[in-house]
Amino acid sequence: MAQINDNFIKIPATYLFSEIAKRVTQHKEAHPEAKVIRMGIGDVSLPLPDASVDAMIKAAEEQRHAATFRGYGPEQGYAFLREAIVINDFTSKGINITADEIFVSDGAKSDTGNIGDIFSVNNRVAITDPSYPVYVDTNAMGGRAGEPNEQNVWSNLVYLPCNVQNNFVPALPTEKVDIIYLCYPNNPTGTTLTKEQLAVWVKYAKENDAIILFDAAYEAFITEENVPHSIYEIEGAQEVAIEFRSFSKTAGFTGTRCGYTVVPKALMGNSENGENVSLNKLWNRRHTTKFNGTSYVVQRAAEATFSPEGKQQVRALIDFYTENARIIREGLIKAGYNVYGGVNAPYIWTKAPEGLGSWEYFDYLLKEKNIVTTPGAGFGLSGEGFVRFSAFGSREDTIEAMERLNK
Ligand SMILES: *Cc1c(COP(=O)(O)O)cnc(C)c1O
Repeated sequence: MAQINDNFIKIPATYLFSEIAKRVTQHKEAHPEAKVIRMGIGDVSLPLPDASVDAMIKAAEEQRHAATFRGYGPEQGYAFLREAIVINDFTSKGINITADEIFVSDGAKSDTGNIGDIFSVNNRVAITDPSYPVYVDTNAMGGRAGEPNEQNVWSNLVYLPCNVQNNFVPALPTEKVDIIYLCYPNNPTGTTLTKEQLAVWVKYAKENDAIILFDAAYEAFITEENVPHSIYEIEGAQEVAIEFRSFSKTAGFTGTRCGYTVVPKALMGNSENGENVSLNKLWNRRHTTKFNGTSYVVQRAAEATFSPEGKQQVRALIDFYTENARIIREGLIKAGYNVYGGVNAPYIWTKAPEGLGSWEYFDYLLKEKNIVTTPGAGFGLSGEGFVRFSAFGSREDTIEAMERLNK
């Protein structure tokens, strides 16, 4: 019999969303008349921008005719999209990134999960806590996480707690680490780092030969001046950081699927015999071997988000969710809760009333208010005592939920 990758059986079954679903179903069965409002979702609710839909229809028409039909495209993405990304997301903001440093993909989940392929199993990995579960689970699958204890804390991972005491700004690790995952604006806490705070990490990475994996999936939600949209706004970051971007939360592509990863040519890793190796070359090798390109139709849809109409429509989507976030933030504050995030992100991280854990507070909100949230404990040990409210719902539901909390 074939032997399996045993790392997979060490990973606890993903119990967070199934446990939430179970509790919601039980509640609905007991109270069929209850109007339950879902504020736990990490998925968008508004449809795609018209510019993207029009671009997909046009591209689909091209696929109907031999003269304009496209088969396999470049694995790294079509030049039209890579160049639009470079101009709109980087050079227009004074950042010098070139098209051959951009790798288009089917989304940031795949890329943040797959990036481990190009790194040795021996690297020491630091992850902010709480975090997007993909970082921990994919390092566990790759054998870099060690063994989990009863609380799902992995023996070889270095956790960087983000909590009220440090105002959700992680402290630098006290032991040597090689790879650091940072996600800003953050999922689940909705908090950010200023340019100066992010610069501390770039400096640390340089001085300690570490690489930062920077997840910027929520950059479009930034409203404040001094919050960086890209880690490459920090001088020298091209020598120490890979950045992940996604059209999912920005332009509603969660079901359409498109993202990209930036691997600067200045970024080097060490081989076992001490050579400096280009990570851009390694990622190109991985990408061309294991990925056959994002669909042509979808790349045209992504390109259209950068057209003048597309930009306006994307802005309208983000503004809608940002207004929901404001309503949630202010509603929760009025109801007497301590809240974090929600200014530069579609998530509001809410402290449970004194003495309640994440799941107890989740149950209270479900049973007493018919509101579904996400228990913070599901994102890591430091998430205990919090729940995450999402701003991705309808305006009507968002307003009603806050009215219920203030009754
Ligand atoms: C939603 C999300 C992503 C994006 O995932 P896609 O695969 O591009 O849809 C990446 N990182 C974080 C932290 C997210 O919350």
